[in-house]
Amino acid sequence: MMKKIDELILSYQQEMVETLQKWIRIPSVKGDAAPGAPFGVENRKALDTAMADCAKMGFATQIIDGYAGHADLGEGDDYEALAILAHLDVVPVGDGWTVDPFGGEVKDGKIYGRGTSDDKGPAISALYAMKAVKDAGIPLKRKVRLILGCDEECGSEDMAYYKAHATMPRSGFSPDAEYPVINIEKGGCHLMIKGRQDGLKVLEMNVGERPNVVPGLATALVEGDEALVKKINDAQWDWPVEAKMENGAVRIDTVGINGHAAMPEHGRNAIGQMMLVLKALGAKGIVETLADKIGMTCYAENLGIAMEDKISGKLTCSMDMVRTEGEYISAVMDIRYPVLFNLEPAFTLMKTAMPDCEVVNLHSRPPHFVSEDTPLVKELLEAYHEVTGFEKKTIAIGGGTYAQSMEEGVAFGAQFPGEVEMAHQADEFLTLHSMFESTRIIARAIVRLAGK
Ligand SMILES: [Zn+2]
Repeated sequence: MMKKIDELILSYQQEMVETLQKWIRIPSVKGDAAPGAPFGVENRKALDTAMADCAKMGFATQIIDGYAGHADLGEGDDYEALAILAHLDVVPVGDGWTVDPFGGEVKDGKIYGRGTSDDKGPAISALYAMKAVKDAGIPLKRKVRLILGCDEECGSEDMAYYKAHATMPRSGFSPDAEYPVINIEKGGCHLMIKGRQDGLKVLEMNVGERPNVVPGLATALVEGDEALVKKINDAQWDWPVEAKMENGAVRIDTVGINGHAAMPEHGRNAIGQMMLVLKALGAKGIVETLADKIGMTCYAENLGIAMEDKISGKLTCSMDMVRTEGEYISAVMDIRYPVLFNLEPAFTLMKTAMPDCEVVNLHSRPPHFVSEDTPLVKELLEAYHEVTGFEKKTIAIGGGTYAQSMEEGVAFGAQFPGEVEMAHQADEFLTLHSMFESTRIIARAIVRLAGK
């Protein structure tokens, strides 16, 4: 049975590359909403194109008001279907490309373009895996539903809408991360701490656009003169700090290293550096609090909420945005917390520890956990192992994948161990061999989980 499936997948290879090229050539970066196109006309075009390809293969398709679409293989209850979730939207191109980001160029066994690895390539693997199961004539005991969304990169509003207007199956997987299986995603919270300035006066400090990016640069304008500039530039700091006069004030720049808030230890937080510099120069009040409580820490060691559990690892905390509002300064922390962490008492604790500050939970999402003893996780690992021979194990991450849209959802692929992470990078590519291997893996997963 698997031999037949592998032969079929081999015969689809040329068509898979051409279909992916067609999808890559639609620049589905989130745009302005238009009628029937809540995430922009290009995203709608990507959805229409993909759904037409699914329909051509004989799957029953439905588009949910331009938010997402699905393609069904087999019959049965929607809720009990095996779901596969992938997305068609892509992040903006960014700098540094040496190939056409929307060209779909194939070179040395790789296909290049924005969305090849995240997540149009994996979507193609899932679609052709379903086609292989269908063409092989394998009888199914439950429906298999491929759901393609259009807003994964900007908050997954698509899945919220889908759940409200269609039936999201209870269980499934999303090939939008890495192999083997990610069954634990930490909880997340955006915490704002706001308080009054004292001591050295900060006139302007507006750093960070997104709460989930560790800032690599920070700038502050403070009250002062040439003497302060000299003092800053003559001092020894643990990282690059520069000062100069600008519009009658002292401009201070600190240079850190950009990173992802889920792994703050891989970056070097320029806001944290700035707080420590300002405190050293005589800032008190909220600046001193932020320097002492957060500073360059990554695990909330000084906030009184540091925590770790065996299954999900450490709580992480990254100070990623700061704003001045006259006498007040506010900062936003991105916190990723372990499955066994309890958010509410932690808030009470922080509020008590910082009585002079406003401590606000701006937004939070609960942790997500699927036991490694479920048939879902077990069979996915078997399918993966059967094709690759690699170790069967589960992984915990900082969180935020599509898998959370399902009660029993896990991330499964499509990046293999040892492969370079290409998502959101310049010259994003997908190795064709990996795309075909993923197709073989997903086809096996479908047979194991939905076959009679
Ligand atoms: Zn993605």
